[in-house]
Amino acid sequence: MLFLFDIDGTLLRRLPPAHRRALCEALRSVYGIALESVDLGPTAGMTDTAITSRLLAAAGCDSRAAEAGLTSFYTAAADAYDRIVDADLSAYRTPHAAEALEWLAARGASLGLVTGNIQRIAWSKLGAAGLARHFGCGAFGDEAEARDALPPLALVRAREIFGRDFAPDQVYVVGDTPADIACGVASGLRTIAVATGPEHTLEHLRACAPDFVIADLRDLETLPLPL
Ligand SMILES: [Mg+2]
Repeated sequence: MLFLFDIDGTLLRRLPPAHRRALCEALRSVYGIALESVDLGPTAGMTDTAITSRLLAAAGCDSRAAEAGLTSFYTAAADAYDRIVDADLSAYRTPHAAEALEWLAARGASLGLVTGNIQRIAWSKLGAAGLARHFGCGAFGDEAEARDALPPLALVRAREIFGRDFAPDQVYVVGDTPADIACGVASGLRTIAVATGPEHTLEHLRACAPDFVIADLRDLETLPLPL
């Protein structure tokens, strides 16, 4: 089985402040747009590209200029993130995240990422949280604006890294928002919603009809998964 994990709200309790500050610094240095972290607005479930596109449009940046700056923006944001992030993000882990990943790995599950984070930020963030070593592959927020485009990329990489195909009913997308559930459904995959994020309760997630809804990652052990 393959599990594709979201990061913020799922493995970490929320978007760490350094991530917001890094996006703001890169908006300033690449596009000349001055914003503070509070100006970013809602970010849960969104890719960094979608967050950035929304901010650029609101600032009146035309779409061609916005597109032209994106590669520089990703590099500037990742550089800024590495400069300002805390070396240890273990306090940001959601309850039982580390133990749940150990539990899955011990049962032979393959683990990957489907996250809206810029790739370099994702790996840096998981490294600082002590969780990166569990993950062999992923798809990231600097590879597409729409989250729905990410699971197919993750599946291609999983085939390369793990050396086997995973049938759609053997793949679970795990995340804390309706957008995580939707992106799994869009690719015909199974979905597990976990209510550890800052915005969505168990009841709210249940209303989105994922295959399973759990309070935190320890509850993975209670699900009827063929592990
Ligand atoms: Mg999330």
